[in-house]
Amino acid sequence: MSILLMMWLVSCNAMAQKAMEKGLATIDRATAEAHIRFLAADELRGRYAGTAEGRVAANYIASQLQQMGVAPLLESYFQPFDACCMETRQGFRWETHPDSVARLADVAYLRCSMRNVLGVIPGRRTDEYVVIGAHYDHIGIAHGQKADSICNGADDNASGVSAVLQLARAFVASGVQPERTVVFAFWDGEELGLLGSKYFVHCHDKGKKLCAYLNYDMIGRNHFPDRPWHVVYFYTESHPAFGDWLRTAIKKFGLRLEPDYRPWDKPVGGSDNASFALIDVPVIWYHTDGHPDYHRPGDHAERINWEKVVDITKASFLNAWRMANDAEY
Ligand SMILES: [Zn+2]
Repeated sequence: MSILLMMWLVSCNAMAQKAMEKGLATIDRATAEAHIRFLAADELRGRYAGTAEGRVAANYIASQLQQMGVAPLLESYFQPFDACCMETRQGFRWETHPDSVARLADVAYLRCSMRNVLGVIPGRRTDEYVVIGAHYDHIGIAHGQKADSICNGADDNASGVSAVLQLARAFVASGVQPERTVVFAFWDGEELGLLGSKYFVHCHDKGKKLCAYLNYDMIGRNHFPDRPWHVVYFYTESHPAFGDWLRTAIKKFGLRLEPDYRPWDKPVGGSDNASFALIDVPVIWYHTDGHPDYHRPGDHAERINWEKVVDITKASFLNAWRMANDAEY
């Protein structure tokens, strides 16, 4: 390699590093609080999929994307889909596959319309996608509760939504076009069976390769009262680089996280990562574990560990940056 070429490569690397740090610097606690407090307010009545309040949540997310200059992936920010609910011997089951919905139209127990919210930053490669997602729906009202009956879902999953919104803004603020196309996805109907992410994967144009998926579901609470920096870090085992990325990020940027690294051969459980893992897309999933307010009215914004949400958002931005720009992983 000539000296000149080497100098050029070094200066390119330094510029990319500067751009990345510019994005990283925009991630802050005030923004996390604003998003989570809005989505987890009592007025949103637990964001049950298909309700008016669920639609308000989706409109809020779309307006945030528009304001930061992230384009819609489709003709609008919304990807609408219908879901049918069937009663089976095992309980209720929701179907979103258009063929099933058409077949079940007359016999379904319930039918409802839902919407994913999808934004995009086109990369140099328009045929390679990296998807960053979190579900925005929650479980609505807990019937039979006396005083507080609204399941606010601050941790589950307003916290994850705040991270995806902050990543979108950070990518814009970096001022450089990513190598791969980055999609910012906010799923509806996760609580009813990963409906939004299943629908997205089903409809996705097979000519555009899904290179990686980064998921957030519940990133704001303390599972162990005496270990406030605990976070579970699931990732596809055949991509050990994902583990190295987080170790490097924590060291380099002085993040306080104490990850429980959980490589998993095929991360098909728990959340929307399953929809991607099932079609062999490598995934990373941040999750701060269960707590006594899980799926209960006590999942309030006041109980969020804000500093941890910020550190997870920063660490995951560094993951997403590499997913979008590294030659391979
Ligand atoms: Zn969740």
